[in-house]
Amino acid sequence: MEEAKRIKQLPPYLFARIEKKIEKAKAEGVDVISLGIGDPDRPTPDHIIDKLCEQAHNPVNHQYPSSVGMLSFRQAVATYYQNRFGVELDPKSEVVSLIGSKEGIAHISFCYLDPGDVALIPDPGYPVYGIGAMLCGAEPYTMPLKVENGFLPDLDAIPADVARRAKLMFVNYPNNPTGAIANDDFYKKLIAFAKEYNIIVCHDAAYQDIAFDGYRPPSFLEYPGAKEVGIEFGSCSKPYNMTGWRIAWAAGNPRVIEALGRIKSNIDSGVFQAVQYAGAAAITGPQECTVEISKVYKERAQVIVDALNSLGWNIKPPKATIYLWVPVPKGYTSMTFAEHVFEKTGVVITPGNGYGEYGEGYFRIALTVEKERAQEAVNRIKEKVGKVEF
Ligand SMILES: *Cc1c(COP(=O)(O)O)cnc(C)c1O
Repeated sequence: MEEAKRIKQLPPYLFARIEKKIEKAKAEGVDVISLGIGDPDRPTPDHIIDKLCEQAHNPVNHQYPSSVGMLSFRQAVATYYQNRFGVELDPKSEVVSLIGSKEGIAHISFCYLDPGDVALIPDPGYPVYGIGAMLCGAEPYTMPLKVENGFLPDLDAIPADVARRAKLMFVNYPNNPTGAIANDDFYKKLIAFAKEYNIIVCHDAAYQDIAFDGYRPPSFLEYPGAKEVGIEFGSCSKPYNMTGWRIAWAAGNPRVIEALGRIKSNIDSGVFQAVQYAGAAAITGPQECTVEISKVYKERAQVIVDALNSLGWNIKPPKATIYLWVPVPKGYTSMTFAEHVFEKTGVVITPGNGYGEYGEGYFRIALTVEKERAQEAVNRIKEKVGKVEF
């Protein structure tokens, strides 16, 4: 059974070695604390679950949904954009529902990339951007995210001939894995760049409602001209603790939204309608839950940041996201440090090179365990790993 080239090309799973060690340790009775996975640990708020239960009992919802989403869900997205960002969206032509934003992020490449086309991909970054391009036979072109640029891509460093061949560009702020945020200047420059080179911007805003200290991440669609050049992916997954529900959206340029809807209607049959009702309840209902969960992540971040800084690090808590992006001490690579920490303490951290070559030299901590467990994790690191140097 000969696999297709596109499958054979998929990169090997980088964390396989670490996962083997985790399994072995667990079998030996080690109390493993995973700070590895970016999957919210708290439950979905009750008012959202109640909406699902109510709608699950309505037989109308048991049939095939439409691939692009119920108009009521798309209207809820438009209402959310109006309330949250002051952005006008036509729910019929400028919003499409997604089976999680990962689905849309993968499929958008199939709408625009032919073999030989270029997609601009942030590195480090969410792996799906580059994988989508690769599955289309297109060429992912790396935009390094460097600390000296605030983990923003340096658009001026992209060679003009590459920019001319590029059809898509993926951008993600607040950023996974670096926790970085983008300012107004960046978005304005991005839109001008996209116009100049005729590139579709795909802005991944999975973390736009998890932010700290009063910071409110903007939407890409707030900026003049954004809707002419791109779309934004949003998701209920992270702000409402709904990763398992698979409900998200893309919004923005109507031609791009139509193309995404067209490919979806040939591949999937949309999101269970009861889940769409629940998603609408999440984004148009009371937003205190996102404020509360942001406070929880902020507290967890502070516990870990304080402990690491007492050992020789010099890091700051992020302004948004559920991650800390931390430099690896002298004498280690991302992988050897993650393995060292795990062997000594049973604490799982993610080596930064799993997010691309420019992630080397960092590790990622996900703030997805309760504060007491986070405290226990850093106590072990203090005791068993101790002071570090850079
Ligand atoms: C978690 C995450 C997503 C995907 O979330 P879905 O559950 O598929 O909506 C998208 N982008 C980034 C950067 C993420 O971290």
